[in-house]
Amino acid sequence: MESPSRSSVIIIGAGVSGISTAKVLAENGVEDLVILEASDRIGGRIRKEDFGGVPVELGAGWIAGVGGKESNPVWELADKSGLRTCFSDYSNARYNIYDKSGKIYPSGIAADSYKKAVESAIRKLRNEEANPCGGGNNVCKVTEPPSMPNTPMELAIDFVLHDFEMAEVEPISTYLDFGEREFLVADERGYEYLLYKMAEDFLFTSEGKILDSRLKLNKVVRELQHSRNGVTVITEDGSVYEANYVILSVSIGVLKSQLISFNPPLPRWKTEAIERCDVMVYTKIFLKFPYKFWPCGPGKEFFLYAHERRGYYTFWQHMENAYPGSNILVVTLTNGESKRVEAQPDSDTLKEAMGVLRDMFGPNIPDATDILVPRWFTNRFQCGSYSNYPLISNGQEFHGIQAPIGRIFFTGEHTSERFSGYVHGAYLAGIDTGKALVEEMGKESTERNSSCSENQAFLLEPLLALTGSLTLTQTETVQALHKCDIPTQLYLSSKIGIQEAIL
Ligand SMILES: Cc1cc2nc3c(=O)[nH]c(=O)nc-3n(C[C@H](O)[C@H](O)[C@H](O)COP(=O)(O)OP(=O)(O)OC[C@H]3O[C@@H](n4cnc5c(N)ncnc54)[C@H](O)[C@@H]3O)c2cc1C
Repeated sequence: MESPSRSSVIIIGAGVSGISTAKVLAENGVEDLVILEASDRIGGRIRKEDFGGVPVELGAGWIAGVGGKESNPVWELADKSGLRTCFSDYSNARYNIYDKSGKIYPSGIAADSYKKAVESAIRKLRNEEANPCGGGNNVCKVTEPPSMPNTPMELAIDFVLHDFEMAEVEPISTYLDFGEREFLVADERGYEYLLYKMAEDFLFTSEGKILDSRLKLNKVVRELQHSRNGVTVITEDGSVYEANYVILSVSIGVLKSQLISFNPPLPRWKTEAIERCDVMVYTKIFLKFPYKFWPCGPGKEFFLYAHERRGYYTFWQHMENAYPGSNILVVTLTNGESKRVEAQPDSDTLKEAMGVLRDMFGPNIPDATDILVPRWFTNRFQCGSYSNYPLISNGQEFHGIQAPIGRIFFTGEHTSERFSGYVHGAYLAGIDTGKALVEEMGKESTERNSSCSENQAFLLEPLLALTGSLTLTQTETVQALHKCDIPTQLYLSSKIGIQEAIL
Protein backbone atom coordinates (compact mmCIF):
# COMPACT_ATOMS: atom_id res chain seq x y z
CA MET A 1 0.00 0.00 0.00
CA GLU A 2 1.24 3.49 -0.85
CA SER A 3 2.27 5.25 2.34
CA PRO A 4 0.06 8.23 3.11
CA SER A 5 1.50 11.69 2.77
CA ARG A 6 1.85 13.61 5.99
CA SER A 7 0.36 17.06 6.55
CA SER A 8 0.98 19.47 9.36
CA VAL A 9 -2.68 19.52 10.38
CA ILE A 10 -5.83 17.59 9.55
CA ILE A 11 -9.11 19.29 10.40
CA ILE A 12 -12.05 16.94 10.78
CA GLY A 13 -15.35 18.64 9.93
CA ALA A 14 -16.08 21.61 7.68
CA GLY A 15 -18.67 23.42 9.76
CA VAL A 16 -18.12 26.99 10.88
CA SER A 17 -15.59 26.02 13.58
CA GLY A 18 -13.55 23.81 11.23
CA ILE A 19 -13.42 26.52 8.59
CA SER A 20 -12.55 29.30 11.05
CA THR A 21 -9.75 27.15 12.54
CA ALA A 22 -8.37 26.42 9.09
CA LYS A 23 -8.43 30.12 8.24
CA VAL A 24 -6.41 31.01 11.34
CA LEU A 25 -3.87 28.28 10.52
CA ALA A 26 -3.54 29.45 6.92
CA GLU A 27 -3.11 33.06 8.05
CA ASN A 28 -0.28 31.88 10.27
CA GLY A 29 1.54 30.15 7.47
CA VAL A 30 0.26 26.59 8.03
CA GLU A 31 -0.65 25.85 4.43
CA ASP A 32 -0.21 22.08 4.34
CA LEU A 33 -3.51 21.30 5.96
CA VAL A 34 -6.24 18.91 4.93
CA ILE A 35 -9.94 19.23 5.78
CA LEU A 36 -11.86 15.96 5.91
CA GLU A 37 -15.65 16.39 5.80
CA ALA A 38 -18.07 13.47 6.05
CA SER A 39 -20.89 14.99 4.01
CA ASP A 40 -20.88 16.32 0.45
CA ARG A 41 -20.82 19.99 1.46
CA ILE A 42 -19.34 22.46 3.90
CA GLY A 43 -21.50 24.21 6.50
CA GLY A 44 -22.50 21.43 8.92
CA ARG A 45 -25.35 22.71 11.02
CA ILE A 46 -25.63 25.82 8.87
CA ARG A 47 -27.66 24.51 5.97
CA LYS A 48 -29.92 26.09 3.42
CA GLU A 49 -32.41 24.18 1.32
CA ASP A 50 -34.89 25.38 -1.30
CA PHE A 51 -38.44 24.76 -0.18
CA GLY A 52 -41.67 26.09 -1.61
CA GLY A 53 -39.81 28.51 -3.85
CA VAL A 54 -37.64 30.13 -1.18
CA PRO A 55 -34.39 29.23 0.61
CA VAL A 56 -35.06 28.02 4.15
CA GLU A 57 -32.51 27.47 6.92
CA LEU A 58 -32.80 23.94 8.31
CA GLY A 59 -30.14 24.56 10.96
CA ALA A 60 -29.04 27.90 12.35
CA GLY A 61 -31.45 30.63 11.26
CA TRP A 62 -30.71 33.57 13.50
CA ILE A 63 -27.75 35.74 14.27
CA ALA A 64 -28.35 35.99 17.99
CA GLY A 65 -26.84 38.77 20.06
CA VAL A 66 -26.86 42.05 18.18
CA GLY A 67 -27.01 45.68 19.29
CA GLY A 68 -24.98 45.39 22.49
CA LYS A 69 -21.78 46.93 23.77
CA GLU A 70 -19.61 44.57 21.75
CA SER A 71 -20.06 43.63 18.15
CA ASN A 72 -20.98 40.01 17.42
CA PRO A 73 -18.29 38.75 14.99
CA VAL A 74 -20.86 36.79 12.98
CA TRP A 75 -22.96 39.93 12.61
CA GLU A 76 -19.83 41.66 11.32
CA LEU A 77 -19.24 38.90 8.77
CA ALA A 78 -22.89 39.13 7.69
CA ASP A 79 -22.60 42.87 7.34
CA LYS A 80 -19.43 42.58 5.26
CA SER A 81 -21.04 40.01 2.97
CA GLY A 82 -24.24 42.04 2.61
CA LEU A 83 -26.34 39.17 3.97
CA ARG A 84 -30.06 40.01 4.07
CA THR A 85 -31.58 39.67 7.55
CA CYS A 86 -34.87 40.58 9.32
CA PHE A 87 -35.31 41.57 12.94
CA SER A 88 -37.25 39.00 15.00
CA ASP A 89 -39.22 39.87 18.11
CA TYR A 90 -40.12 36.70 20.01
CA SER A 91 -41.52 38.68 22.89
CA ASN A 92 -44.86 38.98 21.10
CA ALA A 93 -45.37 35.22 21.05
CA ARG A 94 -46.83 35.29 24.57
CA TYR A 95 -49.67 37.57 23.39
CA ASN A 96 -50.64 35.17 20.59
CA ILE A 97 -51.42 32.00 22.53
CA TYR A 98 -54.25 29.96 20.99
CA ASP A 99 -56.26 27.39 22.91
CA LYS A 100 -57.67 24.24 21.30
CA SER A 101 -60.87 26.02 20.32
CA GLY A 102 -58.99 28.74 18.43
CA LYS A 103 -59.46 31.47 21.06
CA ILE A 104 -56.52 33.72 21.92
CA TYR A 105 -55.85 34.05 25.65
CA PRO A 106 -56.40 37.64 26.84
CA SER A 107 -53.06 39.45 26.83
CA GLY A 108 -53.29 40.43 30.54
CA ILE A 109 -53.69 36.82 31.64
CA ALA A 110 -50.92 35.63 29.34
CA ALA A 111 -48.54 38.40 30.46
CA ASP A 112 -49.26 37.60 34.10
CA SER A 113 -48.66 33.94 33.62
CA TYR A 114 -45.41 34.68 31.76
CA LYS A 115 -44.19 36.91 34.57
CA LYS A 116 -44.95 34.20 37.15
CA ALA A 117 -43.16 31.59 35.07
CA VAL A 118 -40.04 33.78 34.79
CA GLU A 119 -40.04 34.46 38.53
CA SER A 120 -40.46 30.78 39.28
CA ALA A 121 -37.63 29.82 36.89
CA ILE A 122 -35.31 32.37 38.47
CA ARG A 123 -36.26 31.12 41.94
CA LYS A 124 -35.48 27.58 40.86
CA LEU A 125 -32.07 28.62 39.55
CA ARG A 126 -31.24 30.55 42.71
CA ASN A 127 -32.31 27.55 44.83
CA GLU A 128 -30.10 25.24 42.83
CA GLU A 129 -27.18 27.65 43.08
CA ALA A 130 -27.61 28.00 46.83
CA ASN A 131 -28.28 24.30 47.42
CA PRO A 132 -26.28 22.15 45.06
CA CYS A 133 -27.99 19.00 46.38
CA GLY A 134 -26.98 15.56 45.27
CA GLY A 135 -23.49 14.19 45.16
CA GLY A 136 -23.79 13.32 48.84
CA ASN A 137 -24.66 16.82 50.00
CA ASN A 138 -27.76 16.33 52.13
CA VAL A 139 -27.96 19.70 53.83
CA CYS A 140 -30.39 21.33 51.43
CA LYS A 141 -32.17 24.42 52.67
CA VAL A 142 -35.86 24.19 51.89
CA THR A 143 -36.94 27.44 50.33
CA GLU A 144 -40.14 28.35 48.49
CA PRO A 145 -40.56 25.69 45.81
CA PRO A 146 -40.94 26.88 42.21
CA SER A 147 -44.48 26.54 40.89
CA MET A 148 -45.10 23.81 38.34
CA PRO A 149 -46.89 24.57 35.05
CA ASN A 150 -50.25 22.81 34.86
CA THR A 151 -52.68 24.34 32.42
CA PRO A 152 -52.11 24.19 28.63
CA MET A 153 -51.29 27.92 28.63
CA GLU A 154 -48.74 27.53 31.44
CA LEU A 155 -47.22 24.56 29.65
CA ALA A 156 -46.89 26.56 26.42
CA ILE A 157 -45.20 29.41 28.28
CA ASP A 158 -42.94 26.99 30.14
CA PHE A 159 -41.91 25.42 26.83
CA VAL A 160 -40.98 28.76 25.27
CA LEU A 161 -39.18 29.89 28.38
CA HIS A 162 -37.12 26.78 28.98
CA ASP A 163 -36.60 25.30 25.53
CA PHE A 164 -35.90 28.65 23.88
CA GLU A 165 -35.24 31.65 26.06
CA MET A 166 -33.66 30.16 29.17
CA ALA A 167 -32.01 27.07 27.78
CA GLU A 168 -28.78 28.55 29.12
CA VAL A 169 -27.43 29.70 32.43
CA GLU A 170 -28.67 33.14 33.40
CA PRO A 171 -27.39 35.72 32.63
CA ILE A 172 -27.02 34.70 29.00
CA SER A 173 -23.50 35.65 27.88
CA THR A 174 -24.54 36.18 24.27
CA TYR A 175 -27.05 38.86 25.26
CA LEU A 176 -24.73 40.38 27.86
CA ASP A 177 -21.82 40.73 25.48
CA PHE A 178 -23.42 41.31 22.11
CA GLY A 179 -26.93 42.59 22.83
CA GLU A 180 -30.42 41.14 22.97
CA ARG A 181 -31.57 41.55 19.40
CA GLU A 182 -31.88 38.60 17.03
CA PHE A 183 -31.92 38.72 13.25
CA LEU A 184 -33.27 36.01 10.99
CA VAL A 185 -31.13 35.30 7.92
CA ALA A 186 -33.33 35.67 4.83
CA ASP A 187 -30.90 35.56 1.94
CA GLU A 188 -31.01 33.56 -1.31
CA ARG A 189 -27.37 32.54 -0.72
CA GLY A 190 -28.17 31.24 2.75
CA TYR A 191 -26.42 31.63 6.11
CA GLU A 192 -23.80 29.24 4.69
CA TYR A 193 -22.61 31.98 2.35
CA LEU A 194 -20.58 33.32 5.30
CA LEU A 195 -18.59 30.10 5.31
CA TYR A 196 -17.84 30.32 1.60
CA LYS A 197 -16.66 33.89 2.09
CA MET A 198 -14.33 32.74 4.89
CA ALA A 199 -13.07 29.79 2.83
CA GLU A 200 -12.40 32.05 -0.16
CA ASP A 201 -9.59 33.72 1.78
CA PHE A 202 -7.46 30.59 2.00
CA LEU A 203 -8.88 27.88 -0.28
CA PHE A 204 -8.91 28.01 -4.07
CA THR A 205 -12.44 28.87 -5.21
CA SER A 206 -14.02 29.65 -8.55
CA GLU A 207 -17.57 30.80 -9.34
CA GLY A 208 -18.82 30.17 -5.81
CA LYS A 209 -17.35 26.67 -5.66
CA ILE A 210 -14.42 25.46 -3.57
CA LEU A 211 -12.04 23.63 -5.90
CA ASP A 212 -9.09 23.29 -3.54
CA SER A 213 -7.87 19.70 -3.22
CA ARG A 214 -7.09 20.24 0.47
CA LEU A 215 -10.85 20.12 1.14
CA LYS A 216 -11.92 16.50 0.89
CA LEU A 217 -15.68 15.90 0.96
CA ASN A 218 -17.43 12.55 1.59
CA LYS A 219 -14.61 11.45 3.89
CA VAL A 220 -16.15 9.90 6.97
CA VAL A 221 -13.48 9.63 9.66
CA ARG A 222 -13.80 6.39 11.63
CA GLU A 223 -10.55 6.02 13.52
CA LEU A 224 -7.82 8.18 15.02
CA GLN A 225 -4.57 6.45 15.96
CA HIS A 226 -2.48 8.83 17.95
CA SER A 227 0.93 8.81 19.56
CA ARG A 228 3.62 11.25 20.67
CA ASN A 229 4.79 11.47 17.08
CA GLY A 230 1.60 12.18 15.19
CA VAL A 231 -1.90 11.08 14.27
CA THR A 232 -3.12 8.62 11.66
CA VAL A 233 -6.66 9.21 10.43
CA ILE A 234 -8.60 6.39 8.81
CA THR A 235 -11.79 7.03 6.88
CA GLU A 236 -14.73 4.78 6.08
CA ASP A 237 -13.57 4.30 2.47
CA GLY A 238 -10.22 2.96 3.71
CA SER A 239 -8.17 6.09 3.03
CA VAL A 240 -5.35 6.80 5.45
CA TYR A 241 -4.06 10.28 6.26
CA GLU A 242 -1.23 11.28 8.54
CA ALA A 243 -0.58 14.54 10.29
CA ASN A 244 1.44 16.09 13.04
CA TYR A 245 -1.81 17.35 14.60
CA VAL A 246 -5.55 16.81 14.26
CA ILE A 247 -8.34 19.25 15.04
CA LEU A 248 -11.60 17.48 15.69
CA SER A 249 -14.62 19.74 15.15
CA VAL A 250 -17.42 17.15 15.09
CA SER A 251 -20.50 17.84 17.24
CA ILE A 252 -20.97 16.73 20.85
CA GLY A 253 -23.56 14.24 19.57
CA VAL A 254 -20.97 12.63 17.29
CA LEU A 255 -18.42 12.54 20.12
CA LYS A 256 -20.95 10.67 22.24
CA SER A 257 -21.71 8.22 19.41
CA GLN A 258 -19.44 5.40 18.33
CA LEU A 259 -18.73 6.90 14.90
CA ILE A 260 -15.09 7.72 15.63
CA SER A 261 -12.86 5.39 17.63
CA PHE A 262 -9.65 6.47 19.29
CA ASN A 263 -6.58 4.32 19.54
CA PRO A 264 -5.43 4.47 22.31
CA PRO A 265 -8.90 5.22 23.75
CA LEU A 266 -9.67 8.64 25.23
CA PRO A 267 -8.95 8.92 28.96
CA ARG A 268 -11.85 8.46 31.34
CA TRP A 269 -12.06 12.09 32.46
CA LYS A 270 -12.54 13.07 28.82
CA THR A 271 -15.28 10.56 28.06
CA GLU A 272 -17.02 11.43 31.33
CA ALA A 273 -17.01 15.14 30.47
CA ILE A 274 -18.47 14.31 27.04
CA GLU A 275 -21.13 12.12 28.64
CA ARG A 276 -22.18 14.83 31.12
CA CYS A 277 -22.95 17.37 28.39
CA ASP A 278 -26.49 16.96 27.05
CA VAL A 279 -27.46 17.21 23.42
CA MET A 280 -30.46 19.33 22.56
CA VAL A 281 -32.58 18.36 19.58
CA TYR A 282 -34.29 21.27 17.87
CA THR A 283 -36.37 20.76 14.75
CA LYS A 284 -37.92 23.36 12.49
CA ILE A 285 -40.66 21.81 10.36
CA PHE A 286 -41.59 23.80 7.26
CA LEU A 287 -45.12 23.71 5.77
CA LYS A 288 -46.10 25.25 2.44
CA PHE A 289 -49.70 26.40 1.83
CA PRO A 290 -51.58 27.55 -1.27
CA TYR A 291 -52.53 30.78 0.55
CA LYS A 292 -52.27 32.52 3.93
CA PHE A 293 -54.90 31.96 6.60
CA TRP A 294 -52.98 33.24 9.64
CA PRO A 295 -52.81 36.81 10.89
CA CYS A 296 -49.87 38.90 9.69
CA GLY A 297 -48.72 42.40 10.56
CA PRO A 298 -46.84 43.84 13.54
CA GLY A 299 -46.48 41.58 16.56
CA LYS A 300 -47.91 38.53 14.78
CA GLU A 301 -44.81 36.76 13.46
CA PHE A 302 -44.78 34.20 16.32
CA PHE A 303 -47.71 32.38 17.88
CA LEU A 304 -48.20 29.54 20.37
CA TYR A 305 -50.53 26.58 20.56
CA ALA A 306 -51.57 25.59 24.10
CA HIS A 307 -52.04 21.85 24.53
CA GLU A 308 -52.03 19.60 27.56
CA ARG A 309 -48.99 17.82 26.17
CA ARG A 310 -45.92 20.04 26.71
CA GLY A 311 -44.12 20.92 23.48
CA TYR A 312 -46.77 19.45 21.17
CA TYR A 313 -46.51 21.73 18.07
CA THR A 314 -46.29 24.70 20.44
CA PHE A 315 -44.08 27.29 18.75
CA TRP A 316 -45.10 28.68 15.32
CA GLN A 317 -43.68 31.34 13.02
CA HIS A 318 -44.89 32.65 9.67
CA MET A 319 -42.32 33.54 7.02
CA GLU A 320 -44.08 36.60 5.58
CA ASN A 321 -41.54 39.00 7.13
CA ALA A 322 -38.63 37.11 5.60
CA TYR A 323 -40.27 36.17 2.29
CA PRO A 324 -43.56 37.97 1.66
CA GLY A 325 -46.00 35.83 -0.33
CA SER A 326 -44.13 32.60 0.42
CA ASN A 327 -47.13 31.13 2.34
CA ILE A 328 -44.85 29.12 4.59
CA LEU A 329 -45.28 28.33 8.28
CA VAL A 330 -42.57 26.92 10.52
CA VAL A 331 -43.27 24.95 13.68
CA THR A 332 -40.46 24.13 16.11
CA LEU A 333 -40.28 20.96 18.16
CA THR A 334 -37.57 19.96 20.62
CA ASN A 335 -36.06 16.90 22.27
CA GLY A 336 -38.62 14.09 22.80
CA GLU A 337 -41.10 15.51 20.28
CA SER A 338 -38.28 16.02 17.75
CA LYS A 339 -37.13 12.43 18.11
CA ARG A 340 -40.70 11.19 17.82
CA VAL A 341 -41.38 12.99 14.53
CA GLU A 342 -37.96 12.10 13.13
CA ALA A 343 -38.92 8.45 13.58
CA GLN A 344 -42.30 8.63 11.84
CA PRO A 345 -43.20 9.18 8.17
CA ASP A 346 -43.58 12.84 7.15
CA SER A 347 -47.21 12.11 6.15
CA ASP A 348 -48.02 11.40 9.84
CA THR A 349 -46.28 14.59 10.92
CA LEU A 350 -48.25 16.54 8.30
CA LYS A 351 -51.52 15.09 9.65
CA GLU A 352 -50.63 16.05 13.22
CA ALA A 353 -49.59 19.58 12.24
CA MET A 354 -52.78 20.07 10.21
CA GLY A 355 -54.84 18.91 13.19
CA VAL A 356 -53.19 21.56 15.36
CA LEU A 357 -53.63 24.29 12.75
CA ARG A 358 -57.34 23.36 12.36
CA ASP A 359 -57.73 23.66 16.15
CA MET A 360 -56.32 27.18 15.94
CA PHE A 361 -57.76 28.43 12.64
CA GLY A 362 -60.85 26.31 12.01
CA PRO A 363 -61.71 23.32 9.84
CA ASN A 364 -61.79 25.15 6.50
CA ILE A 365 -58.11 25.99 6.13
CA PRO A 366 -56.36 24.36 3.14
CA ASP A 367 -54.04 21.37 3.49
CA ALA A 368 -50.33 22.06 3.26
CA THR A 369 -49.02 21.20 -0.18
CA ASP A 370 -45.52 20.33 1.02
CA ILE A 371 -43.64 19.54 4.23
CA LEU A 372 -39.95 19.49 5.12
CA VAL A 373 -38.80 17.70 8.28
CA PRO A 374 -35.04 17.96 8.98
CA ARG A 375 -33.59 15.03 10.91
CA TRP A 376 -30.70 16.35 12.98
CA PHE A 377 -30.89 13.60 15.57
CA THR A 378 -30.92 10.68 13.14
CA ASN A 379 -28.17 12.18 10.99
CA ARG A 380 -25.07 10.25 12.08
CA PHE A 381 -22.85 13.24 11.30
CA GLN A 382 -24.79 15.39 13.81
CA CYS A 383 -26.70 13.20 16.33
CA GLY A 384 -28.57 16.25 17.64
CA SER A 385 -28.72 20.01 17.24
CA TYR A 386 -26.43 21.55 19.84
CA SER A 387 -24.81 21.10 23.23
CA ASN A 388 -26.73 21.84 26.39
CA TYR A 389 -24.55 22.20 29.47
CA PRO A 390 -26.16 21.69 32.88
CA LEU A 391 -27.75 24.97 34.02
CA ILE A 392 -25.68 24.95 37.17
CA SER A 393 -22.20 23.97 36.19
CA ASN A 394 -18.77 24.69 37.62
CA GLY A 395 -17.20 24.68 34.18
CA GLN A 396 -15.59 21.26 34.68
CA GLU A 397 -17.57 19.63 31.86
CA PHE A 398 -16.60 22.38 29.50
CA HIS A 399 -12.88 22.26 30.35
CA GLY A 400 -12.85 18.48 30.06
CA ILE A 401 -14.51 18.55 26.65
CA GLN A 402 -12.21 21.23 25.33
CA ALA A 403 -8.84 19.95 26.57
CA PRO A 404 -6.52 18.50 23.89
CA ILE A 405 -5.43 14.88 24.09
CA GLY A 406 -1.83 14.77 22.97
CA ARG A 407 -1.87 15.89 19.36
CA ILE A 408 -5.65 15.93 19.03
CA PHE A 409 -7.30 19.32 19.59
CA PHE A 410 -11.05 19.68 20.09
CA THR A 411 -13.17 22.53 18.75
CA GLY A 412 -16.80 23.29 17.87
CA GLU A 413 -19.71 25.13 19.49
CA HIS A 414 -19.61 22.73 22.47
CA THR A 415 -16.06 23.91 23.31
CA SER A 416 -17.08 27.56 23.65
CA GLU A 417 -17.33 28.42 27.33
CA ARG A 418 -19.41 31.56 26.87
CA PHE A 419 -21.34 30.92 23.67
CA SER A 420 -21.96 27.18 23.34
CA GLY A 421 -24.90 26.34 21.10
CA TYR A 422 -24.48 29.31 18.77
CA VAL A 423 -22.86 30.01 15.41
CA HIS A 424 -20.70 32.73 16.96
CA GLY A 425 -19.66 30.23 19.66
CA ALA A 426 -18.48 27.77 17.02
CA TYR A 427 -16.78 30.54 15.04
CA LEU A 428 -14.90 31.93 18.04
CA ALA A 429 -14.01 28.46 19.33
CA GLY A 430 -12.46 27.70 15.93
CA ILE A 431 -10.37 30.86 16.09
CA ASP A 432 -9.20 30.09 19.63
CA THR A 433 -8.30 26.51 18.74
CA GLY A 434 -6.40 27.65 15.65
CA LYS A 435 -4.41 30.11 17.75
CA ALA A 436 -3.72 27.52 20.47
CA LEU A 437 -2.41 25.10 17.87
CA VAL A 438 -0.22 27.72 16.20
CA GLU A 439 1.26 28.44 19.60
CA GLU A 440 1.81 24.75 20.27
CA MET A 441 3.49 24.29 16.89
CA GLY A 442 5.71 27.26 17.62
CA LYS A 443 6.74 25.76 20.95
CA GLU A 444 7.38 22.39 19.39
CA SER A 445 9.53 23.86 16.67
CA THR A 446 11.57 25.89 19.18
CA GLU A 447 12.14 22.77 21.28
CA ARG A 448 13.01 20.76 18.20
CA ASN A 449 15.39 23.40 16.93
CA SER A 450 17.24 23.57 20.20
CA SER A 451 17.48 19.80 20.42
CA CYS A 452 18.44 19.72 16.73
CA SER A 453 21.26 22.22 17.18
CA GLU A 454 22.62 19.88 19.81
CA ASN A 455 22.09 16.90 17.52
CA GLN A 456 23.57 18.68 14.55
CA ALA A 457 26.68 19.58 16.51
CA PHE A 458 26.83 15.98 17.57
CA LEU A 459 26.43 14.76 13.99
CA LEU A 460 29.00 17.17 12.67
CA GLU A 461 31.57 16.11 15.22
CA PRO A 462 33.04 13.32 13.11
CA LEU A 463 33.03 15.52 10.04
CA LEU A 464 34.79 18.31 11.80
CA ALA A 465 37.30 15.93 13.23
CA LEU A 466 37.83 14.67 9.69
CA THR A 467 38.47 11.22 11.02
CA GLY A 468 35.95 9.62 8.74
CA SER A 469 34.75 7.38 11.53
CA LEU A 470 31.04 7.65 12.37
CA THR A 471 30.00 7.88 16.00
CA LEU A 472 26.32 7.06 15.16
CA THR A 473 24.95 4.10 13.26
CA GLN A 474 23.40 5.00 9.92
CA THR A 475 19.89 4.22 11.20
CA GLU A 476 20.36 6.45 14.20
CA THR A 477 21.65 9.22 12.00
CA VAL A 478 18.76 9.01 9.55
CA GLN A 479 16.25 9.01 12.42
CA ALA A 480 17.88 12.09 13.92
CA LEU A 481 17.84 13.84 10.55
CA HIS A 482 14.15 13.12 10.08
CA LYS A 483 13.47 14.60 13.47
CA CYS A 484 15.37 17.74 12.50
CA ASP A 485 13.87 17.97 9.01
CA ILE A 486 17.31 17.76 7.38
CA PRO A 487 16.92 16.02 4.00
CA THR A 488 18.70 12.68 4.34
CA GLN A 489 19.90 12.77 0.77
CA LEU A 490 21.64 16.08 1.33
CA TYR A 491 23.30 14.86 4.47
CA LEU A 492 24.43 11.55 2.97
CA SER A 493 25.87 13.18 -0.14
CA SER A 494 27.78 15.68 1.94
CA LYS A 495 28.91 12.83 4.12
CA ILE A 496 30.08 10.82 1.12
CA GLY A 497 31.76 13.89 -0.25
CA ILE A 498 33.68 14.38 2.97
CA GLN A 499 34.54 10.72 3.26
CA GLU A 500 35.76 10.80 -0.32
CA ALA A 501 37.77 13.85 0.52
CA ILE A 502 39.27 12.06 3.48
CA LEU A 503 40.08 9.06 1.39
C1 LIG B 1 -31.92 23.23 14.01
C2 LIG B 1 -30.81 24.12 14.51
C3 LIG B 1 -31.08 25.45 14.76
C4 LIG B 1 -30.06 26.30 15.20
N1 LIG B 1 -30.32 27.63 15.35
C5 LIG B 1 -29.31 28.48 15.62
C6 LIG B 1 -29.53 29.88 15.53
O1 LIG B 1 -30.62 30.34 15.17
N2 LIG B 1 -28.49 30.70 15.81
C7 LIG B 1 -27.26 30.23 16.17
O2 LIG B 1 -26.35 31.03 16.42
N3 LIG B 1 -27.02 28.88 16.22
C8 LIG B 1 -28.01 28.02 15.94
N4 LIG B 1 -27.78 26.67 15.90
C9 LIG B 1 -26.46 26.16 16.34
C10 LIG B 1 -25.39 26.31 15.24
O3 LIG B 1 -25.89 25.84 14.03
C11 LIG B 1 -24.16 25.51 15.65
O4 LIG B 1 -23.74 25.93 16.93
C12 LIG B 1 -22.96 25.65 14.70
O5 LIG B 1 -23.34 25.68 13.36
C13 LIG B 1 -22.02 24.49 14.97
O6 LIG B 1 -20.87 24.58 14.17
P1 LIG B 1 -19.67 23.55 14.41
O7 LIG B 1 -18.61 23.87 13.45
O8 LIG B 1 -19.36 23.49 15.84
O9 LIG B 1 -20.30 22.11 14.09
P2 LIG B 1 -20.94 21.49 12.69
O10 LIG B 1 -21.55 22.60 11.96
O11 LIG B 1 -21.75 20.38 13.15
O12 LIG B 1 -19.63 21.01 11.94
C14 LIG B 1 -19.08 19.74 12.18
C15 LIG B 1 -18.83 19.05 10.83
O13 LIG B 1 -18.24 17.78 11.09
C16 LIG B 1 -18.71 16.87 10.12
N5 LIG B 1 -18.50 15.51 10.63
C17 LIG B 1 -19.20 14.86 11.58
N6 LIG B 1 -18.70 13.62 11.77
C18 LIG B 1 -17.64 13.48 10.91
C19 LIG B 1 -16.72 12.44 10.63
N7 LIG B 1 -16.79 11.27 11.28
N8 LIG B 1 -15.77 12.63 9.68
C20 LIG B 1 -15.68 13.82 9.03
N9 LIG B 1 -16.53 14.85 9.25
C21 LIG B 1 -17.51 14.69 10.19
C22 LIG B 1 -20.18 17.24 9.97
O14 LIG B 1 -20.69 16.76 8.75
C23 LIG B 1 -20.12 18.78 10.04
O15 LIG B 1 -19.99 19.33 8.75
C24 LIG B 1 -28.76 25.79 15.44
C25 LIG B 1 -28.49 24.44 15.18
C26 LIG B 1 -29.51 23.62 14.71
C27 LIG B 1 -29.19 22.19 14.38
